[in-house]
Amino acid sequence: MGNAEQEKLVGSIHLPIYNACHMLLSLITLLPDMLAVPRPVIFIIAGLFGAIIGSFLNVVIHRLPREESIVFPNSRCPSCGTAIAAYDNLPVLSYLILRGRCRSCQAGIAWRYPAVELLTGLLFVAVAWHDGLSLMLPFDLVFCSAILALIFIDAEHMILPNAITYPGIVFALVARVAIPYFSTTAHFDDLASLMHGMLHGLPAWSVSLIGAAIGGLIGGGSLWLMGWTWEKLRGIEAMGLGDVKMMFMVGAYLGWRLTILTIFMGVLSGSIIGIGLMVQQGRKDMQMLLPFGVFLGIGTILSLLIGTGIVEWYASQYR
Ligand SMILES: [Zn+2]
Repeated sequence: MGNAEQEKLVGSIHLPIYNACHMLLSLITLLPDMLAVPRPVIFIIAGLFGAIIGSFLNVVIHRLPREESIVFPNSRCPSCGTAIAAYDNLPVLSYLILRGRCRSCQAGIAWRYPAVELLTGLLFVAVAWHDGLSLMLPFDLVFCSAILALIFIDAEHMILPNAITYPGIVFALVARVAIPYFSTTAHFDDLASLMHGMLHGLPAWSVSLIGAAIGGLIGGGSLWLMGWTWEKLRGIEAMGLGDVKMMFMVGAYLGWRLTILTIFMGVLSGSIIGIGLMVQQGRKDMQMLLPFGVFLGIGTILSLLIGTGIVEWYASQYR
């Protein structure tokens, strides 16, 4: 085969691939404009999608702490073991249709199932409202789903499984590297200050990753310090490393400013509820074990949704 012929062949193979890639890329960047979907429609789709993901989160919340497989077997009634048919597995609706009872054994279905589905649906609507139809949306939905699973597992079992926090940390770092390439506005609120400061001139992904490291160290570090101080003062282990790993993940994803806000909200709400419970139960020994991850998780989601406004308002008080 001659050189010219070879070039022609390579060219004829490459051109369609190049064209396809180019089309795909422009499609992705134009997607928000092309999908001129009315906002209510976006919210309805986000809510329905959230309810389906909530149904999956129920499986994660139930099986992960019991060290069962998440993909196998299919959902079963915890009382009689009968496999749940697809038509009885519709988020929220099935619970209402079955009036909260198993079709075969009539055992009560925990209210947590429809609650998680409803809550995930509402959360997805809120995140869609916050992000709009942007490429940030899928990242934020994954992040919030992981946090929601952590909240419910911690509430029931007082653990924050590594099976969520470790992949969560990896996810946060990957997201941090990838997002500057398709999000023109800095989503993470620590980026702007870093960009204009001493990191000026570095590629966007490395600035983003440095921001993640700072956030992670502040998030995980402050929780570790709190646990260490409490242990020195009282001689008892107050906090598991689960909280430290969770807040490293949150800090890496949200950046240092929203992470400080998250910890503030978590400590404040946790203390109020904790003191309230102690007063109610007439205990004075501060030995109450609270699932702190629940309060940190709620703080995380609030920070993502409304935190930037709060931080900006707070900063403006000192200008
Ligand atoms: Zn049953």
